[in-house]
Amino acid sequence: MNLYEHEAVSSIYKKYKVPHANFVVATEPNDEVAQFVKDNGGAVVKAMVLVGKRGKAGAVKLVNTPEEAAKAVSDIMGMLVWGEKPVAVMVCEKASIVAELYCAITYSTETRSPVITLSMQGGMDVEDIDPADIQTFPVKAQAEVEPYEIRNMLVKIGFTKQYGEILRQASMAIANVYQAFWGAECRMLEINPLAVVKVSKKDKKTGEMVEALDIRALDAVITLDDDASIPPQKIYGERSAYMREPTQREVDALLIDRDDHRGKAGSYVEPEDLSGDIAMMTFGGGGSAVTIETCYDVGLRPANFTDIGGNPPAEKMYRIGRIILSKPGLKGVLVCGGTASNTRIDVTLGEGLVNAIDDLAKEGKLDRDLIWVVRRGGPEVEKGLKLLAECFERNGIKGKIYDSELPITEAPLILRDLLVEHRGYKPGEQAKEA
Ligand code: GDP
Ligand code: MN
Repeated sequence: MNLYEHEAVSSIYKKYKVPHANFVVATEPNDEVAQFVKDNGGAVVKAMVLVGKRGKAGAVKLVNTPEEAAKAVSDIMGMLVWGEKPVAVMVCEKASIVAELYCAITYSTETRSPVITLSMQGGMDVEDIDPADIQTFPVKAQAEVEPYEIRNMLVKIGFTKQYGEILRQASMAIANVYQAFWGAECRMLEINPLAVVKVSKKDKKTGEMVEALDIRALDAVITLDDDASIPPQKIYGERSAYMREPTQREVDALLIDRDDHRGKAGSYVEPEDLSGDIAMMTFGGGGSAVTIETCYDVGLRPANFTDIGGNPPAEKMYRIGRIILSKPGLKGVLVCGGTASNTRIDVTLGEGLVNAIDDLAKEGKLDRDLIWVVRRGGPEVEKGLKLLAECFERNGIKGKIYDSELPITEAPLILRDLLVEHRGYKPGEQAKEA
């Protein structure tokens, strides 16, 4: 799970003493923000989104007055950042940046250990940093890295040439970053920039204010391990793959695989704008991707995306079947997958989906105007498709059922033509001629 910056800072940086700016979180301009900006003589207002490159998108704004801050808060809350709507803004103490480092910790499959990546050329996108200016240091897979080890890394990347006076602070800070990475069970923790900042401090001898350097994490990109000892959703709540509030159907679907590792039927997402009129029950990562791409290609508008697999039991198929069929505004249903290797077709389609359809019919919730196309292969396919055909028959469902004799990319085309013929469906403009 990916964390928003304010979550990462308030729950992880604070706990592990990673030096960071003071901040408040807001969703609209308010007195707390105004007071914060007044007290600090300015602020940085940042969009809380899960995509990166907010700076480039204009979603990180430096402000000097409470009025400017109020405008920045409203502007940012009203914008889409690379297509994503901010859930909040963070109003942070403004730092006076002297240098920007890049710092990331993740796991390497090569060394089979955590690795710390450091560069003096932070601030810009990591992919734009000259590879000669970036170094990766494997460390032992354990809870702590000694500050002296970090110190050696900082020397190697040239930190001491200009900022030797804060070598100790920087080493401690990165040692704490490592503890945070380990302790919070992160898959990845990236700080860009980890900044050398100018601060004013009281001189111990004279009591006068003097300028000094310090180190501060000015960003936080954290991916928690989904298999962490405490599941991240229990701490941070459910998060849909899409950058908006999950719909009730998406939430219901997520619960299908919770605490039940038999197969996977709960990955269900709807398009960002919630449009689409074709219910998609698709199987396997590859099969699902090919099917959905073909749908868009022939002018169908998918209402959702699934990639069911790993031989889920009938109960899971029953639940996802009901969710898929409950989205308002559907015109057609595409049940489509390749030839399964271990997913039983009699169990998934012949039992789970059939029971879902029968129950919806009993409850008076089955839309008989929907047009169905089914294409599937795999173990017990003959039995499974026969049970499904009988179910279609007894419930008066219009549709066609194919096994893997039909090429997978033909199924969306057949559905489109049936919809055009029987329901006056108007394929999208991008539709290719058949
Ligand atoms: P990102 O673009 O999503 O990585 O967002 P960041 O939080 O990293 O902010 C983008 C850029 O804004 C940083 O790379 C900094 O150069 C700049 N920035 C962030 N905080 C401050 C600050 O307190 N003072 C100044 N002067 N610049 C900042
Ligand atoms: Mn950044």
